Amino acid sequence: MRVGIISFLHESNTFIDAPTTLDAFQRDGIFTGRAMYDHYSGGHHEVSGFLEGLMAAGIDALPIFHAGTTPSGRIAKATCDALMAQMFEQVAAAGEVDGYLVAPHGANSGAGDDYRDLDGYWLSRLRARVGPQKPMICTLDPHANLSPRMVAACDATIAYRSNPHLDQKQRGLEAASLMARTLNGEVKPTQAGAFPPIGINIERQLTSAPPCLPMCELADEMLREPGVLSNSILLGFPYSDVEEMGSAFVVVTDDDPARAQVLANRLADYLYAHRAEFVGEYIAIPDAVDRAMARKGPVCLLDMGDNVGGGSAGDGMAIARELHGRGTAPSFVCVFDPESQQRARDAGVGCRIALRIGGKTDELHGAALDAEVRVRSLHDGKFRESEVRHGGRTSFDMGPTAVVETDTQLAISLTSRRVVPVSLGLMTSCGLNPSAFQVIVAKGVHAPVAAYQPVCTALIRVDTPGATAADMRNFDYQFRRTPMYPFEEIEERDFENSIDQ
Ligand SMILES: [Zn+2]
Repeated sequence: MRVGIISFLHESNTFIDAPTTLDAFQRDGIFTGRAMYDHYSGGHHEVSGFLEGLMAAGIDALPIFHAGTTPSGRIAKATCDALMAQMFEQVAAAGEVDGYLVAPHGANSGAGDDYRDLDGYWLSRLRARVGPQKPMICTLDPHANLSPRMVAACDATIAYRSNPHLDQKQRGLEAASLMARTLNGEVKPTQAGAFPPIGINIERQLTSAPPCLPMCELADEMLREPGVLSNSILLGFPYSDVEEMGSAFVVVTDDDPARAQVLANRLADYLYAHRAEFVGEYIAIPDAVDRAMARKGPVCLLDMGDNVGGGSAGDGMAIARELHGRGTAPSFVCVFDPESQQRARDAGVGCRIALRIGGKTDELHGAALDAEVRVRSLHDGKFRESEVRHGGRTSFDMGPTAVVETDTQLAISLTSRRVVPVSLGLMTSCGLNPSAFQVIVAKGVHAPVAAYQPVCTALIRVDTPGATAADMRNFDYQFRRTPMYPFEEIEERDFENSIDQ
């Protein structure tokens, strides 16, 4: 038996003007065959789980195609064309396989009508090629905007169950085991999705606390019912202007699609009944800094509007400007600013220079910080992470990095590449001890939690401006469904008509 593996991973923030182009994917690696195996083997990612699980079941794993890059703007049409051409060339070259394990992120979106639901597009094209009989099993990030087309293309869909995402490898192993049982003829997975017109605020998406926790527990209990092979909660990705934007549920049963639909609807009913709890809390910057200063440090301030893992610029200075203005306690922020990094490097360690820091990528994330700084240290920006962290990655590259400090006790790490803050290596690889700071700014919402919670006394989510600002009601959508909560109130009638498609 041979099972093909494809991963195509991008979270496309369609509110960013700059498109994502092929060079971003090339820089982060487009892999096939052996190179793809080497990229994933032994890691914490779901594809690492596919490889290990298939091997344990005595099935040949065939890594066919991988492309992925850091979340950013909608993927340019020519880039979609090029990636699709490469993917399907590799599929053709692989020849006959017995099934497919596929890992779309679930929030891939490209330019043009065909590619808006890019995951739905490539999964249905792959299904058309392999025919209706062979199993296709899909893993997803719960920040997927699940479309009916994605559900129709696959026999089973398995999303990570934790946010921050710490169970990616486990879900990959689960998918591989389901594939093995399917190929053995032990089970016949069938699935159904429910697509309630409800958006969940990013601030409410932590799975270890209410309001998500009781919903996750309901899903966990359902797994014990006879004939249920798997179920998933898709929290959705609000920063994507697509028809399928929002939450969704999918249930996989053993050869019983009608029951899968009933169970998926049951999860959707729970969300409908509790929808008001998922709207979110908005803490303004001065209030958040007051709260952080009032307690024992370090306190982590999560910069929701400049969430790099959601596609934001990584150079928003809104919280840093407040900290700089107060100058009352040692604070740290990491900023994507290749130009300032280079100026600090040219000046050299120990030198004082005036810099205009951040605020350079777009108009969404507020003004730059003008400050005189001392260059503290210079680094190559590469580090490794041995613990399981959000995203399942083990090696990181921030590009050449300079640490500078102001006279107001603000330490700023200037990086040449955008960095999703999922590892403390971001600080420790630059000789910075997290416990030396009262306030640590992390440009994320939930992704930083696993790394920062153990060293911080509190994490506070801050309502800041940016391409990932917390209140989705402030974004201008063209394609989302209406009525949709929390943009509009939804009546029970609207809800019933729209959940199963
Ligand atoms: Zn995610």
